Amino acid sequence: MSQAGVIQSGGVTGQQPPDRAALVEQTLERGFPLMVFPPALEGFFQQECEADRLRHVTASGVAAVLLFAGMLVSDWLLTPETFGLACALRLGVFAPVVLAGLWALRLIRSAQLTEWGIALAGMLAILLTGVILLKAESRWALSRVVELNIIVVYTCTLARFWPAVAMAGWVALVQAFLVFTLPDFTGVISINATLLVLVVMAFTLFGNYTLERHERCAFLMAQRERALQDALEASHAQLAHLATTDSLTEVANRRSAESFLAQTWAHAQKRDLSVALIAIDVDHFKRFNDHHGHQAGDRCLQSVARALTSCSRRAGDLVARMGGEEFLLIMVDVDQRTAMSVAQRVRDVVRGLAVPHAAPGCGPVVTVSVGVATVRPAHQVGLAETMKQADEALYAAKGSGRNRVCTRLADGEMHCLDEAGLLPEGLGS
Ligand code: GH3
Ligand code: MG
Ligand code: MG
Repeated sequence: MSQAGVIQSGGVTGQQPPDRAALVEQTLERGFPLMVFPPALEGFFQQECEADRLRHVTASGVAAVLLFAGMLVSDWLLTPETFGLACALRLGVFAPVVLAGLWALRLIRSAQLTEWGIALAGMLAILLTGVILLKAESRWALSRVVELNIIVVYTCTLARFWPAVAMAGWVALVQAFLVFTLPDFTGVISINATLLVLVVMAFTLFGNYTLERHERCAFLMAQRERALQDALEASHAQLAHLATTDSLTEVANRRSAESFLAQTWAHAQKRDLSVALIAIDVDHFKRFNDHHGHQAGDRCLQSVARALTSCSRRAGDLVARMGGEEFLLIMVDVDQRTAMSVAQRVRDVVRGLAVPHAAPGCGPVVTVSVGVATVRPAHQVGLAETMKQADEALYAAKGSGRNRVCTRLADGEMHCLDEAGLLPEGLGS
């Protein structure tokens, strides 16, 4: 029986539901002397084993058909008068019934039916053997009762515990009937054969119980391990999230932005792509805090972060909070004109949030100033220099009245756009 193998290969991907993990723990604690798990777990166990079990049962079923047909040799040698009947029963009844049953099991795919199908096949083999022996005229017919042991061992080794118990009960009935019906001219064969079948049944059932117990224990331990692994993975994911995300705004934090930028820079250098850095700073935010309170300031930062995220729609973009009320939008493979359009959208979307800024000399709503720097890392300046350029453009936006977007053009001139401003013709990649 390859029942242990069934567990190894029955893995299911994805996380375990927490109630199943609790059920596994509970079952390990309480045990399962009746060889059955609580219903929810039992169903899952059957489902996990199903594919391998069906393969194993199919191979064993075909082998059983050959073995049962091979017993024709005993028919020929020991009770030749039953040979014709034995051929009909072994080849004309057992073989087609078992093969059709196996085919049906593959179609229906029911774990319960598969398990009970094994026992039913064993019972059929016992019944047919009984019929052959009852028709035998040889005085040695009763001695062939020992053949039932072969069927008992074969079936009970393959079957699960409770179907094996049912099968053993059936064997006891047929054995008793044969012993009382067939003549025993020696007076000892019946006692001998009965003792033998009882001992074989006891040992086989004990072996079956022990094997299934091990199989079920291995299943529970594998489930426990999977639950621990899931918990570990979840806590790793949580730690990674905490390490890379800004807790207030839920966008990337500075550390994450720096490592993303280093990777993006190397990638862009290799592929000769452009990188755009869009530096964003909330205008008069100190006064906003002073006037509306720190909590309102936090809520404002959250709204701004959401607005920035909504402006960066491509998978390769990253929005990060670099500190305080400063954000950075990183984009790859966009030219200066596109970067300026995105920057204008950022400025307009934030203004469109219409967060009131009632501090004297500000507002009437919260705005941002934006600095844009676009470079091709393969041809031009390094990362630090580009960051400096974005900061300079941001500084220029502050200096030219805030709520503006600025960038340095190819001719070295700083160009700033207010809400009414149009992109200049000179913008290139
Ligand atoms: P400017 O328009 O020139 O950018 O002026 P500003 O007031 O926005 O700039 P400044 O650097 O003087 O002030 C930034 C303020 O941002 C100061 C600080 O209290 C506030 N701030 C920084 N981090 C947080 C935060 O996490 N929550 C809140 N509510 N305020 C913050
Ligand atoms: Mg500011
Ligand atoms: Mg600032």
